[in-house]
Amino acid sequence: MCLFNCAFFISLKRMNEVFFLSENNRTMANARLLAAHEDIFICPICSNPVKVVDLKSLICSNHHCFDISKQGYVNLLSHPLRTKYDRKLFESRAIISQNGVFDPLIARICKIMVDELGPTSTMECIKILDAGCGEGSHLPDIQQRIHEQSQHNLLGLGMDISKDGIRIASRRSSRAIWCVADLAQCPFKDNQFDFILNILSPSNYSEFHRMLADDGMVIKVIPERKYLQELRGMFYRPTDKMVYSNEHTVELFSRKFKVVDIQRVQYSVTIDQKYMGQLVHMTPLSWGASQEQIQQILGMHKLEVTMDFSVLLGKKE
Ligand SMILES: [Zn+2]
Repeated sequence: MCLFNCAFFISLKRMNEVFFLSENNRTMANARLLAAHEDIFICPICSNPVKVVDLKSLICSNHHCFDISKQGYVNLLSHPLRTKYDRKLFESRAIISQNGVFDPLIARICKIMVDELGPTSTMECIKILDAGCGEGSHLPDIQQRIHEQSQHNLLGLGMDISKDGIRIASRRSSRAIWCVADLAQCPFKDNQFDFILNILSPSNYSEFHRMLADDGMVIKVIPERKYLQELRGMFYRPTDKMVYSNEHTVELFSRKFKVVDIQRVQYSVTIDQKYMGQLVHMTPLSWGASQEQIQQILGMHKLEVTMDFSVLLGKKE
């Protein structure tokens, strides 16, 4: 277990790739990538194969039709679903991520993946699904880091139930295929993903098991008890939501997958006042907080916060 301080300097280092492409080119790149890999998808309604038509729609052999948006993502929800995660939360998390707050966690995930892939690359495309990707901060970063460390050919797919999240993701990166979809009816064929990432997000283990390749790996990140404990301490009384346990989560995970390892990642970051608002709004922790409590944090000059995660690694039995 390592505990270290991560100096938190404000840089816009990863607002990069995105702005090299114009809005229109990025949209086309997203849609073309989707069309090139249409065989990965199935219809979420009838499970039949689908085809991309004119870079505008994804249509199944039963004529169920799903629009490809002008940003180049596809919306595969058969009906709109409400979620409490809104645009403000995703935009806040994108800014916090761009400033490196999750870097040590992402570096650990990449090390796990590179170790699992091994040194020998093949022509085969390694498929990575980020299930519950939100605003898509992590997947392009993970693709970039793995690309730098290995010669594997990678394909990234990000899915989330929130259209707000996927809209932000598809504007920020054309490196991955982005789709709005329900975890309960994932629109992907069986046994095909080499990695399914599930980072601080809800799960559907039956669907993960169905979609995972036989030798694939599920990487699930869950918050540990010290995660953002400084915010928790300010938002809740000691008797409220300060203490929680992950035992149940691990138990549910282990019912579907053989747990090959659980790794703890702990570090701290110092958040400058300029980004205090984004810190507060990137987490559902603030949903129960009073305006007075939020103002108290926003007024702080800086705040050191603890990041504390467990990374669960699962394989098929
Ligand atoms: Zn269909």
